[in-house]
Amino acid sequence: MSIVEVSDLRKKFGKFNALDGVNFKVNQGEVFGFIGPNGAGKSTTIRVLLGILKATKGDVKLFGKDAWKEAVEIHKRIAYVPGDVNLWPNLTGGEVIDLFMKLRGPKDDRSKRKDLIRKFGLDTTKKCRTYSKGNRQKVALIAAFSSNADLYILDEPTSGLDPLMEQVFQECVMELKNKGKSILLSSHILSEVEKLCDKVGIIRQGKIIETGSLDELRHLTRTHILIKTKKSISSLNEIHGIHEIKETNQGLSFQIDTEALADAISYISQFGILKLESKPPTLEDIFMRHYENKVLEEVNETGGVLSASK
Ligand code: ADP
Ligand code: MG
Repeated sequence: MSIVEVSDLRKKFGKFNALDGVNFKVNQGEVFGFIGPNGAGKSTTIRVLLGILKATKGDVKLFGKDAWKEAVEIHKRIAYVPGDVNLWPNLTGGEVIDLFMKLRGPKDDRSKRKDLIRKFGLDTTKKCRTYSKGNRQKVALIAAFSSNADLYILDEPTSGLDPLMEQVFQECVMELKNKGKSILLSSHILSEVEKLCDKVGIIRQGKIIETGSLDELRHLTRTHILIKTKKSISSLNEIHGIHEIKETNQGLSFQIDTEALADAISYISQFGILKLESKPPTLEDIFMRHYENKVLEEVNETGGVLSASK
């Protein structure tokens, strides 16, 4: 059984279609990356999952139960961290963590709480009103990771954290995953979540445009490479999957289809690599490839005749 199952989810705000037919599934033990630019509809989808917003249309189930009608049952089994954490200003961080843990019931783990406070380096004696965005996120993350839920819903939970804390966050997610928990993790930055996710769903303007494992999405991704070699590289433009070759002051730059990366690097290595920098594919790259492919498909379908207005 899927832990989360969203079918043809639509949500209108007035006349505006914020969600326009969203479909995806999260299975038991899976880390699902819910990726899309700001305003794509990630938080709206998550609010529907939490039963805070009523869908205009569609079927949304968690643990086989209806998100809107059976929210009480569902919430016994989930932990949620919002992107923008609001806390009680006059309580200390420690008091708020305890409050969240009490709300979740007696199953939660006190020693885990202590361990997480140390790892995230949170001063729990300070009042929440004095906390930065990052510290408020830490409070919510510590409470969520201390709780023994079956599904963790994390909505851009690391946007205020520094890189060191991001590392701690990733360790916590991996630990949950190893215990067989399910995680829905939203982000607008692909490279931030790709290490953690078994599967990603890419949302844009209220529609899922791609879902699959990152391996399955490789055909949409290009890695950016900057390289310097001892000898100049011959016939680089003949290598399969290489695009946009440019000479720069820092070396030779090009893009490569991620699936062709290994072959290209082994070809280039015979020229003596002095420097190699690679930048992972970004969401923008995936969108561009997605739409390029769509145009190509249309060209094929129409036998190469594409009206000028398209
Ligand atoms: P994301 O989380 O991916 O950044 P959101 O789900 O917050 O995006 O928003 C999706 C779209 O729906 C945006 O255009 C946003 O302005 C709009 N939206 C979200 N909530 C409301 C609301 N309560 N009323 C009207 N429009 C909303
Ligand atoms: Mg959001």
